[in-house]
Amino acid sequence: MDNGAIADNFDLLAKLMDINGENYFKTKTCAIAAFNIEKLPMQLKDTPREKLFTIKGIGDSVGKKVIELLDTGKLEVLSEYISNTPPGVIEMLNIKGIGPKKINTIWKQMEIESLGELLYACNENRLTLFKGFGEKTQKNVREAIEFYFSNQGHFLYAQLDEIYPQIENYLKKLFSADKVKITGAYRRQELTIEELEFVIAATNENIKPKFETAQPPELVEENEDNLLYKLKNGLKLRLFTGKQNITERQFLTTGSKEFTDEFQKAFPSIKYTVGESDESVFAAAKIPYILPCLRETAAIIEKAKTNKLPKLIQTEDVCSIIHSHSNWSDGSNTLEEMANECIKRGLEYLVISDHSQTAFYAKGLKEDRIREQHNQIDALNKQFALQPSSRLERNSGGQAQPSPKSSGGHAFKIFKSIESDILYDGSLDYPEAVLKTFDLVIASVHSNLKMNEEKAMTRLIKAIENPYTTILGHMTGRLLLSRNGYPVDHKKIIEACAANHVVIELNAHPRRLDI
Ligand SMILES: [Zn+2]
Repeated sequence: MDNGAIADNFDLLAKLMDINGENYFKTKTCAIAAFNIEKLPMQLKDTPREKLFTIKGIGDSVGKKVIELLDTGKLEVLSEYISNTPPGVIEMLNIKGIGPKKINTIWKQMEIESLGELLYACNENRLTLFKGFGEKTQKNVREAIEFYFSNQGHFLYAQLDEIYPQIENYLKKLFSADKVKITGAYRRQELTIEELEFVIAATNENIKPKFETAQPPELVEENEDNLLYKLKNGLKLRLFTGKQNITERQFLTTGSKEFTDEFQKAFPSIKYTVGESDESVFAAAKIPYILPCLRETAAIIEKAKTNKLPKLIQTEDVCSIIHSHSNWSDGSNTLEEMANECIKRGLEYLVISDHSQTAFYAKGLKEDRIREQHNQIDALNKQFALQPSSRLERNSGGQAQPSPKSSGGHAFKIFKSIESDILYDGSLDYPEAVLKTFDLVIASVHSNLKMNEEKAMTRLIKAIENPYTTILGHMTGRLLLSRNGYPVDHKKIIEACAANHVVIELNAHPRRLDI
């Protein structure tokens, strides 16, 4: 082990001690040792042992650790710190702008244990509530994490959804529109995506020169019939290449392996017509079209054969916004702005459900502010009742449309709600007298997420059984790419919700998306 590696061990040890809030002088000793060892003119491994302790900057405790490192290749005390610190906390050392001291605050005071949670907290403006974290730090931390994540190569579906059109357009420009087809995980609308996949009707030899631009993407993998590039933003781009039938190729690379294997078994002699969309494949098989997002399991093919495909929720099915935070808590807009935007989009009503009082980091509402907010909602609803433009009718397509004629339409309405924290013991965040002033209550867990399944279940079931709970919010508390949810028995929760007439939220936040 050379001096560089020895110094690295001391450096990491110093940082982990700091993160764990150890005594300043102990920490400092290790940091100085790292600094000195790095600069030594001779290699410690070649220095006679008895001379080690006479080297300037290496005292008794550092010297012993050096010997341990040279003999065993590890430091026992460092291994202990590593195993006692959550991996997500150690990972924070990769983020520019937060040193060990700040990480200590993040971990011990904010109770955040992963980068994903930290990013989420930045977005919720929670960092600024702690000493040493101003708006500027928060902004820098957010940007640094986003950069770090994009380099890790994992993306949320919503992130890719934003950049996908540019990439598709670029490819279509390079290869002509009929030779480029989207496929794979993105086409199936998976929750998180590692590779954006396209079928390109061209050979590797034709494709590669087109990417030799001034700032070429990195070619990470080259196979006979596919290429893998890494773009500057960290996204991996898989291109299925070659002279094969493009319709067949798209079909076979879109579905999961389980789905395509079963399909080929069920319809062994199917003909793939070149240039057609893959709807033609289903037509040839004489079964209804299976949308890409459903092509995961073998069982879905049986459902298609027997005409039992589920009807999927479409954008036009959405007739209101329900779980919404205004600037009364941690949202950005006023009630009026939110309501007007809903009216503009043809939605029928808006449910305002700001954070409850325990969520202090999100400016959760105390009782007096709830009363004030309700007064404001009453006043706005009165206005809407008089405004012709807020009268809505469903048109023939099922889509709500503002109807100035107002014949039989009903006025736009804001419902009074709250996103009540589910407290540690499963109770809601207000006494009954307050709870009954809401039109509906969304109950969600936001803190104390580390529970075993039994405790988590008792807590959730108690909240579900509360007569004031209308909706169970983001059931597992998970944050995609950053935090696993707490363990729950989904079946039992669904049964409890059914028995208590509680609605289960399908949370549409790109990081949540449970259940
Ligand atoms: Zn929430």
